[in-house]
Amino acid sequence: MRPSPSPSQEETGAGEDAQVVVVGAGPAGSATALHLARAGVDVLLLEKGGFPREKVCGDGLTPRGVHQLVRMGVDIDAPGWTRQRGMRWVCRGREVLIEWPSLGRYPDFGLTRSRYDFDQLLAEHATAAGARLRTGVKATAPLLDRSGRITGVHAEVGPQGRPAVFRAPLVVAAEGASARTALAMGLERDTRRPMATAARRYYRSPARADDPYLELWADLRCSRTDRDLPGYGWIFPLGDGRVNVGLGALPHRRHGAVDLRGTLERWLARLPEEWGITEENADSPLRGAALPMGFNRRPQYGRGLLLVGDSAGMISPWNGEGIAQALEAGEIAAETVAMALTRPHGPRREQALRRYPDEIGRRWGRYYRLGNLVAAQVLGRVGYGPLLHDRVMDSPLLLAAMARLLTQLTDEPSQDGIDTVLNTLIRLVPAR
Ligand SMILES: Cc1cc2nc3c(=O)[nH]c(=O)nc-3n(C[C@H](O)[C@H](O)[C@H](O)COP(=O)(O)OP(=O)(O)OC[C@H]3O[C@@H](n4cnc5c(N)ncnc54)[C@H](O)[C@@H]3O)c2cc1C
Repeated sequence: MRPSPSPSQEETGAGEDAQVVVVGAGPAGSATALHLARAGVDVLLLEKGGFPREKVCGDGLTPRGVHQLVRMGVDIDAPGWTRQRGMRWVCRGREVLIEWPSLGRYPDFGLTRSRYDFDQLLAEHATAAGARLRTGVKATAPLLDRSGRITGVHAEVGPQGRPAVFRAPLVVAAEGASARTALAMGLERDTRRPMATAARRYYRSPARADDPYLELWADLRCSRTDRDLPGYGWIFPLGDGRVNVGLGALPHRRHGAVDLRGTLERWLARLPEEWGITEENADSPLRGAALPMGFNRRPQYGRGLLLVGDSAGMISPWNGEGIAQALEAGEIAAETVAMALTRPHGPRREQALRRYPDEIGRRWGRYYRLGNLVAAQVLGRVGYGPLLHDRVMDSPLLLAAMARLLTQLTDEPSQDGIDTVLNTLIRLVPAR
């Protein structure tokens, strides 16, 4: 086990002050802290756990996520990363390969890496840029001034849970799905937005571990109800002899939550034996977690608090991807905060901070609104099978368009015909 990238709070004494406190050192928190530190802002990054540590995830990054890693200066040529050329969709006995597009803006490959050390690597990047990371520090409640504005957090430090206070004029909540600080500030989740569940397990599978494609299955059936899975299954190669195998599902409107374990077992029984995705080759227990989607917590800025990543339900309702969004939102939050801090405390600074939700809305608002609708009306009822209709599977152009719609791989101004069609489609969605 490598040592934690910075001393734990236990070793550094009681609470501290900074210009910004970021709670949670997952992708959202580390990206925010890194970009803030690069802008010269004094930032404290609080993490309740230590590194390395498990995080339940599919471990897959689309080119949009890779783009953000490159912007963060992460060395994606170093050992530990596995590249993919695209996706392989399997449906009704057929399979199709879809290459990641060659767009000017995004790289033409995806990456996988286990979250076990991925998150540590990002946190180390943040500290190398100047952020002060404190592990073993669990934020327990917001610290409020008389007007109800957040001015820091109360925390428990170390295994003994020693109380401490971390103060800053601005706080970023990046605590993932638990969204503790946001909830304590009265920001409940919008239950009309989709909330999927997903589970994953690692298997030793030398036969599949170096696959140059992310594999996705669109025709799975639920174990108990025998209905179409309102989601998909995945097999993501990790390049180290293992694969990450899992499935995710939206709650079915009438049939409620899906039995993920039973459905996974039923699916795995269909896989060729030579892939080795069997009980004997399992390398971890099956673990599941919730996926807050479609901007299910708002406002993303208010009373000194910015929400980034899963804390704000930023997972895409189109495909369950959340790392790229967490990294990108972290960069937007950091840029907004750095600009706002050039203004004096008061209305002019508040005006600058409101740019954060505005910019999030500009990049994702219409796309997510349409995604929420598609998730409720199609994916949450019958899954991804209809998107892979035979006519779509027979057409490389339609397949490419579908893949780019699901992963938001479009450029503006439009680079090709698919960009033009998708950008027009999204523009037709009414603004909020
Ligand atoms: C089964 C599954 C598969 C998935 N597969 C993919 C995939 O393949 N690709 C993809 O892009 N996305 C995937 N996602 C979504 C992705 O995991 C999340 O969107 C992403 O991790 C969000 O990052 P985050 O930083 O917002 O939150 P998190 O990654 O949850 O990080 C939050 C951090 O905050 C810390 N924390 C929490 N509370 C406190 C506190 N009170 N005080 C201090 N620290 C605290 C936590 O310890 C953690 O380190 C998947 C999700 C699931 C459940």
